[in-house]
Amino acid sequence: MKMKSVLLAIIPVITATSVLAQYKYGLKPTDYEGYLKSIKADPKKELVDLEKFIPGIVLDIRYATTNNFTGEKIYNLPKAYTRKPVAEAVKRAQAELAKQGLGIKIFDAYRPYAATVKFYEVYKDTTYVASPYRGSRHNRGCAIDMTIINLKTGEELVMPTGYDSFKKEAWPSTPVKNPVIRKNRQLIIDTMEKQGFKVNGSEWWHFDLIGWKNYEVLDIDFETLMSSEY
Ligand SMILES: [Zn+2]
Repeated sequence: MKMKSVLLAIIPVITATSVLAQYKYGLKPTDYEGYLKSIKADPKKELVDLEKFIPGIVLDIRYATTNNFTGEKIYNLPKAYTRKPVAEAVKRAQAELAKQGLGIKIFDAYRPYAATVKFYEVYKDTTYVASPYRGSRHNRGCAIDMTIINLKTGEELVMPTGYDSFKKEAWPSTPVKNPVIRKNRQLIIDTMEKQGFKVNGSEWWHFDLIGWKNYEVLDIDFETLMSSEY
């Protein structure tokens, strides 16, 4: 498989330091040094570890496994970071869902720019893969991919498609016949939009913080972020 072999070849590049990231698309993401300066000037730009910030949140970071649309492991660590206001909003959403016996499962959060470049280079349809010319809202630490789970069983609520489906059924605007699925999709959208997010037009699981433009595209790997925590 061509895509598979290409991905195998690029994995060491993605997991290496940001110095190796490709900036040939005209976008120069903020590096670790620039990030540190930015959080000194504006503390809400800090990237927060969701697992630490939101007790009980469930992570299933698909790009740190082979269970994703590429079939390959893209991240070498299953970490979920977001900018502080995103983390605070997710925390509020979780508290709201908990009243109904429900919780949040995160599939992806902050994504280093180097990973977005590699996704694009193997899958050039920008309907589903962010353009490296602009960067992804995930690169800004302002987007999350998620679903809702039953807190008692840990089971995901049934949604129109699985995560990262490229089908039209994944679009929030596509009508759903099944009333349970329709209700679940409405619940995730209503819950997140109430907390200041906007659902993506082709992915029911993807939510952007309104105001994401105020946050820079970053290219800092998870190891660097973990080592900087205190
Ligand atoms: Zn997403």
